[in-house]
Formats: sequence, C-alpha cells, structure tokens
Amino acid sequence: MSALRRRHARGCHRAGAIALVTLLAACGPRVTGEPTLILISLDGFRWDYMRWADTPHLDSLLSAGSGAQALVPAFPTKTFPNHYSIATGLYPGNHGLVANTIFDPILADTFALDDRRTVADGRWYGGEPIWVTAEKQGVKSASIFWPGTEAEIDGVRPTYWQRYDHEMAADSVLAQVLRWLDLPAGRSPRFISMYFHGVDDAGHQNGPDSAGVALAVQRIDSTLGNLFHALALRQLSASTNILITSDHGMTWADSARLVYLDDYIDSTQLAVTDWAPVLALRPHEDSIEAVYNALKGAHPRLHIYLREELPPQYHYSNHYRIPPIVGILDLGWQATTHQRFEERRESYAGGVHGYAPDNSDMHGIFIAAGPDIRSGRQLPAMENIHLYELMCHLLNLEAAPNDGALSATKAILR
Ligand SMILES: [Zn+2]
Repeated sequence: MSALRRRHARGCHRAGAIALVTLLAACGPRVTGEPTLILISLDGFRWDYMRWADTPHLDSLLSAGSGAQALVPAFPTKTFPNHYSIATGLYPGNHGLVANTIFDPILADTFALDDRRTVADGRWYGGEPIWVTAEKQGVKSASIFWPGTEAEIDGVRPTYWQRYDHEMAADSVLAQVLRWLDLPAGRSPRFISMYFHGVDDAGHQNGPDSAGVALAVQRIDSTLGNLFHALALRQLSASTNILITSDHGMTWADSARLVYLDDYIDSTQLAVTDWAPVLALRPHEDSIEAVYNALKGAHPRLHIYLREELPPQYHYSNHYRIPPIVGILDLGWQATTHQRFEERRESYAGGVHGYAPDNSDMHGIFIAAGPDIRSGRQLPAMENIHLYELMCHLLNLEAAPNDGALSATKAILR
C-alpha cells in the first residue's frame, strides 16, 4: 500500500476534513484501496476541440478533475507512435514504432497499421507498455483497440483484448468495457484502455474546424456520458480514475501546398518508405549523399535531414528503423510527385497530421478525474511521455525505465 493510500485509509475517521470523493474511494463498498484506472484515447482530438463543439460530459469531467492546456505528442505526430508513447513513456525514437509505416532493415519487413500480421507481431514493439507492467505485477488489464494490445510483448498480453474492428460502433466498445467491469471480483480488470477513432476520421475527411468534426466530437462526448453514467450506476465512480487523452491534433491540407520531389530529383532514386507527411527516404547506400544534396534546400517548406542531424528535441536519431534521410514539412504542406498526385488527387485535401510537435495544431487533449486526482488544476502543455509514470503511480506499480517523469503530473495528484 502506498503512503498516499495509507493516508486515505486513516482519513476515514476524519470525514470532515476530506472530500467526499476521497472518502468513498477509501471506504466505499467495492474498494480495497486499489482504484481502477480507465485510459481512453480519442484519436485526433485536437487540444481546442472542446472550445467549439458541445461537450457537456467532457466539461463536467474536467470540472470534477484536472487537465492540461494540451497534450503534446511525440515526433512524428501519428497514431501508432503516439499511442505507444503514451503506453510506454518512451519517445518513438526509443520504442521503435517510429511511424505508421516502417521498414525494418533487419527484419526485412514493412510494418503497416492496417496489416494485422505486423500489428500483432511483438517484434515491432520495444519498451514496456503499461499493460505489460501491470500484468507482470499481478494487475489484470483489458484493452479494446489500444494500438499494440493485439501483440504479445515481452511474452505478455492484456488478460482481455480484442482484435481491431474499425466498424465496431463506439457504444459497442463501451458495452464490452462494461462487461469486463461486471466480471466478479478477482476476474475483473483493474486497468482498462479504450480507443475511439471517430474524431480522427471526421478530421481527415472534413478538416479540423468543420461541422463534421463538431458532430463527431458531440457523438463521442455522449458515449463518454454513457460511460460515466454506467460507472455511477455501479457505484464505481468514486473508485475509478479516468484519463482522457488523444494521440495528436489535426490541421488543414490542400493541393495548393505541395512539394513535388521529382522537380528536384529523378523519383526512381528516392525510395520513399513513408510520405505522410514526414518523409522517410531510404535510398541505396551509394545514393544517400546525392539524394540528400538534391533535396536539401530545394524547397523552402521542406527541411531535409540526415538521421544523425535531426533536431535533438524530437528524440528521433537513435533507432535503426529511422531512415537515413528524413524530410519534415512545414505545417499543412505535403510532399508528392507529379505521378503520385495524379493517382490520388482527392487525398491531398481535408485534414492531416504528423507534423513536428512544435505546431500547436498537432496537440491533443488531457483530462484526468477520479479519487486520486485533485480538482481544478490545470497543467501547462505537457508531453505525452509523462503519462506512463502517472499510470504506474495510479495503479501502484513499479515503472519500467522510460523517458517521462512523475513530477510533470504531480500537481494534479491528491
Ligand atoms: Zn489520423
């Protein structure tokens, strides 16, 4: 039992001095001093979406708990790298899921987020995600669709997990979580992670500040309202810590802001393994220098780096899966070739993400509430690699080595 929880237990005698929520957490019927933790990802939920869509349930969670001005994703601001950074506390350059599409020169294989063979292959996942930390220390975990939970990592999977189903409705995702919570004591998980893709889909299709996004945000808010209501009905609200996160934000894209690489170099030399929008170039060893020289400084919106010279704040130079040449585009710009553009014209409009995390359009959200969370605190914009330490603290687990620090979130803890 942690010192924090010992304090709560003693506090039961001194009800007057302690907030009701804390009291319930320490003395309530289903509580044994070990609250449940629910980690929720709303893919592509930009830091400011709550300002211009109707979100009564997120608003009330925030006013009961605390939040951050923004959750700053790791580089590159894509879905798999950032979900796995939240889960491990490691930058993508340290956990190895360095993009959504990755070529591994040792495995001689390509990881793609829509290729279940690779998504379920534990060899792609470095570091120790929170559900592995939990299971190793005897805490049952469950996940519905958190990236990485379909693979056996370090020989461990969540006790309960689901194969990704993009068509499953948000309410069905919620229903599965409630079935887990309703399992008898000893079988029900104490850590649950959930993933919802609706807001990201709407952002790609319509662009960020659009009616389509507002509708998707309202929909997921109402699903979350159903979750909070279901917890209250089960008298679990006072023993459940909830973290709402998102992996990245979104910005506008259009076909007027394109860099045509074949204006500067023969496209057969490029060997692009990822276009979207961080450019991953893996030319033959003999042509690395030629490709680099041809593209470096060629277009003012495209910044070309050798792996070793990438800005240190991106923590993106160490992993062998990072390609020898990386191109970073200014916000809203995309690279292509003339032929590629003709083949997929429509795909260059709408919303896009993946840019350097210094662009605030790429920032996500963070809200926390529950028995171990203070109310009314606001953290400054915070990097998502700090959440692993926070989750280990909330679950009373010993953390594996990682890039984050508990001090980043200490101000919101009771
Ligand atoms: Zn996306």
